[in-house]
Amino acid sequence: MPERALDLAVLGGGPVGCAFALALHGSAHRVAVFEQRARAAGALHGERPIALSYASRLVLERLGAWPRIAPTPIETIHVSQAGSFGRTRLEAREAGVPALGYVVGYAALEQALLERAADCGIEIVREVAFAERAHSGETVRLRGKCGDRPIEVAARCVVHAEGGSDEASEKRYAQEAVIGVLSSAPRAGTTAFERFTAEGPLAMLPMAGRYALVWAMRPERAAALAAEAPEGFLAALAQAFGGRAGRLEAIEQRVRVPLVLRVRAARHGAREVYIGNAAQTLHPVAGQGLNLGLRDAWELGCELRGSADPGDARALASYAAQRRLDAAATVRVTDLLATAFAGDNPLGRLARGCALGALDGCAPARRFFARRMIFGRSAMP
Ligand SMILES: Cc1cc2nc3c(=O)[nH]c(=O)nc-3n(C[C@H](O)[C@H](O)[C@H](O)COP(=O)(O)OP(=O)(O)OC[C@H]3O[C@@H](n4cnc5c(N)ncnc54)[C@H](O)[C@@H]3O)c2cc1C
Repeated sequence: MPERALDLAVLGGGPVGCAFALALHGSAHRVAVFEQRARAAGALHGERPIALSYASRLVLERLGAWPRIAPTPIETIHVSQAGSFGRTRLEAREAGVPALGYVVGYAALEQALLERAADCGIEIVREVAFAERAHSGETVRLRGKCGDRPIEVAARCVVHAEGGSDEASEKRYAQEAVIGVLSSAPRAGTTAFERFTAEGPLAMLPMAGRYALVWAMRPERAAALAAEAPEGFLAALAQAFGGRAGRLEAIEQRVRVPLVLRVRAARHGAREVYIGNAAQTLHPVAGQGLNLGLRDAWELGCELRGSADPGDARALASYAAQRRLDAAATVRVTDLLATAFAGDNPLGRLARGCALGALDGCAPARRFFARRMIFGRSAMP
């Protein structure tokens, strides 16, 4: 079978791989995306919620995908801890942005990016499994199967966007998330809730009048609660969360998700580079994973757009250096929120309460914290 010659082969057609291919649209580079799944995520990820930051909106606008998304804006985030004092509210107005973030379903976001990619003539090749990867001169050769046919590609640069990678170091949290979609009375508006419980963080994100729930807890309890009757589940949730979102009436689409932190030691190698979850997979607390991945995709696109050789070692090293601080800081913040903000040690509770109280009493600190979570490293003074 004839070999396909490309400047860039993107492995993984999830949101980050598609966003990267779109960031190169209009450049002279020949790009194709290779996806292992036969179809888009659809029912597989259902309505799994993704909270996009305002900065991610700006990236998606530049890529031309934003108008296809029907998101729910988050204007306020209410942060509290269960069983103790300390709470704060982050407001979009105070942070100087129209919304702190936007909630969309993973499948809807992926669909918007795929439609935009189709309009831009970006080729997405499905059902691809590459079994071999070999370096020869200035190309990386990939060999494998596309459906039941053989496929061979020679690319000057391979961009890994395959999601969580086994090659990265892994820390398994002593937590699993139970996710689902909640109905309440009154209906959800534009306030999101983040509540730190002894077992892990609990987030309720407004999504089209309902709440998307992401509740981290001990794996044994997650197994029990995922199988619990809806009434029992809602009673346990009301006990952990309190009454600030009104009456919780129904829970649908409950799924358990294991939680891990995976970070690659190096985000680039010879003519290969890693972005999104392939570079780092985070705990979902504070909804940072895809936001960080979209920043990876955008910045790599900016770095490689005008470069004569997209696999040039200096260009890849410059990209990796630019991303190091943002990625490391985001990994540290989410890891800290997932672990140090859990536990029922009274001293820990006191410290968390004081931290939340201090944030609540200091508008510039709240503004800085909100902008850091929205914009990443570029919000640093
Ligand atoms: C419970 C939960 C809640 C979350 N909430 C948020 C949130 O609110 N905000 C946020 O920013 N992030 C959130 N995240 C993180 C977010 O989902 C990920 O960061 C994001 O999906 C990463 O996108 P990606 O394209 O890098 O990887 P993925 O979404 O994993 O996509 C990877 C793609 O590559 C394909 N693939 C895999 N292997 C291969 C291969 N060998 N060859 C070709 N294709 C391959 C896969 O089929 C898939 O299509 C959450 C995560 C979880 C688990």
